[in-house]
Amino acid sequence: MHHPLKTRYLSVALCTGDAVRVPVWILDSGVPGPALLLVAAQHGNEVQGSEVIRRFIEKAAKRSLRGKILAVPFANPTALRQRRPHLNMGPEQPYADDRGHNMNLTWPGNPKGNDTARVTYAIDQAFGEEATHVFDLHCWSVQMAPMVLIDDEPEYRDLARKLGHRFVHVRSLGTVTLAGVLHHRGKIGITYEHAGQYEVNELEVLRCLRLVTNYAKAIGLLRGRLEPGDEPVLFSDETDAVTVKSPTSGLFVPAGCRLCDAVMKGYRLGHVLSDVNLRTTEVASPVRGYLRQYGAFRNNADVALTGRHPYVEKGDPLAIIVCPESDGFSARRGCKGGKSQTRPA
Ligand SMILES: [Zn+2]
Repeated sequence: MHHPLKTRYLSVALCTGDAVRVPVWILDSGVPGPALLLVAAQHGNEVQGSEVIRRFIEKAAKRSLRGKILAVPFANPTALRQRRPHLNMGPEQPYADDRGHNMNLTWPGNPKGNDTARVTYAIDQAFGEEATHVFDLHCWSVQMAPMVLIDDEPEYRDLARKLGHRFVHVRSLGTVTLAGVLHHRGKIGITYEHAGQYEVNELEVLRCLRLVTNYAKAIGLLRGRLEPGDEPVLFSDETDAVTVKSPTSGLFVPAGCRLCDAVMKGYRLGHVLSDVNLRTTEVASPVRGYLRQYGAFRNNADVALTGRHPYVEKGDPLAIIVCPESDGFSARRGCKGGKSQTRPA
């Protein structure tokens, strides 16, 4: 069993009259079945999904396959080459200051729009109708746990459980994102956020590779049993979250905990070395739960190094711990802080 992998190029005419080529992969089994569209790096600094797609295609080519895989590992080649989220951004320019170039807010694109909307349009024209399912791979800040983002529909919840990934964020997919546009066409659109922009992290790649393999199996693209994943899978609207705040200003030194992992009540998260009196204050988890955010982290951590600096003010968040609602442990009583809130990148 070895399916031929084809590489094709979408040529996009830009406003200047120049053209940009978007390379794509097509793996077609020749057997009727689902068409899974994989898209990565819509934001040029979010590149972990590109490697996930490469490995998944390599794996799928050797397996028993129904249907086809349509893959766009570098959806926004110009932003990729500029190593920035959107087209023509300057240093430390916030994501939200996108001047209409946030690709994930331009679907289904426009052949007469700006250069980003033109690329979007070309991808949608090539694959948007044929795809029955989409998996849109993004990355957010390295301090935030990787997460599956789904619409609030029973069908999506069932599918998300099968993916075997710790955190699922439930929200409206909107009408201008890739997943949202395909969802409104009656297809299945799932978005994913890796932990970490500007990098490719092996553990992150392996985690998402398991997830996309389970996605392919769950929809009948690949044969075989689902790979065992995280247990429990935690949905944002079914869980509470506790924010652990810094007891003092100073340098936060994390204790090496891993995102998504379980922490017990009293588990050491790190310490803060005060810049005022040089005292060291230990920081421990007040509850039993699962680590959804970890480390010094503030606005614009996705574009500016100061946002990632480990110097914290008193009250700054050091960690967010999610507590399963069904958890029978007494730590559940300590959970306050409302439903999980996240902002996609
Ligand atoms: Zn993104």
